[in-house]
Amino acid sequence: MTSSVPPDKVYPWQATAWQQLWQARQQGRFAHAFLFVGIGGLGKKQFAQTLGNALLCSQPSEAGGQCGSCHACHMAAAKSHPDLMMIEPEEDSKTITIDQIRQVVKNVNETSMQGGYRVIIIHPATAMNINAANALLKTLEEPTPNTVIILVSDQGSRLPATIISRCQKITFTKPSQSEAVNWLRSQLPNEKVDLQLLLKLAEGAPLKALLWADKDLFTLRKDLYHDVHALTEGAIDPLQLAAKWQELDQLCVVDLLLSWLTDLLRFKLTQDESKLVNSDYRAEIVRVSVALLKNNLLAYIDEIQAARANLVASYNLNKQLVIENVLIKWAQYVSR
Ligand SMILES: [Zn+2]
Repeated sequence: MTSSVPPDKVYPWQATAWQQLWQARQQGRFAHAFLFVGIGGLGKKQFAQTLGNALLCSQPSEAGGQCGSCHACHMAAAKSHPDLMMIEPEEDSKTITIDQIRQVVKNVNETSMQGGYRVIIIHPATAMNINAANALLKTLEEPTPNTVIILVSDQGSRLPATIISRCQKITFTKPSQSEAVNWLRSQLPNEKVDLQLLLKLAEGAPLKALLWADKDLFTLRKDLYHDVHALTEGAIDPLQLAAKWQELDQLCVVDLLLSWLTDLLRFKLTQDESKLVNSDYRAEIVRVSVALLKNNLLAYIDEIQAARANLVASYNLNKQLVIENVLIKWAQYVSR
């Protein structure tokens, strides 16, 4: 590895962010708090971990690669470094509690175990409830030397402004389509599916596309769009359909529905078939889109986005009810 190449664990589309951050560290102008933002599926959490491990390594390479042989690297490999704290919602919960943040504050006020950096990663930062965020604020306001707090969020704008303003914001952007497709091809050398389409369905996020390839997304999508068609035609009842879909990955179902609806709206607004993501369903999208009212589509997309936010944020949620609600409304909007 030459000195200018970022560590292997850094994805190609993160290389610039890595170089900038590591350079700042080498030049002694590293911030004490960061906010990593960008859509899901770009690898922000892994980036934060890799950065944390590099900061803790006692002999990193010039470009920030871990030496792999020091005490810190051994502990990092065993995921047991006492100075790297990963704060995430506890099992069965989607919330980061004030108690978890109090633990962070306590830890920050003690000296680091190994005498070097101490790194705290909070993921996803939007999982902090308001009390937890307030508890963190004081620590962000009064930085402790050699302590780095990294907040990771897919929805940075949903964090309190007081938190955002105290962090250096690093925005992760998706790679170009060709870069992402090349990367996907390198990960899935034997995959027969249309990677370009898969990537578009995943909103251009390579890791989301990779995960979806693993779930056989195209079969799911085919079944789903078939059922949506039956629903539109009144050939199937929304409740029946919700029951049929309840075993599926609900987030995936909602994302596919959103992709479908966004295409309907896209065609409604532009009358341009070439802009459609689900290009293999062009004829049907055009036919359905023409029959719908723009305002109904906009309102329905809002409904589904709200349902999606609920699915992401709440653990104790009757998912079948969420999907039932979504499908009942679909029938209403389409029949209007
Ligand atoms: Zn090391």
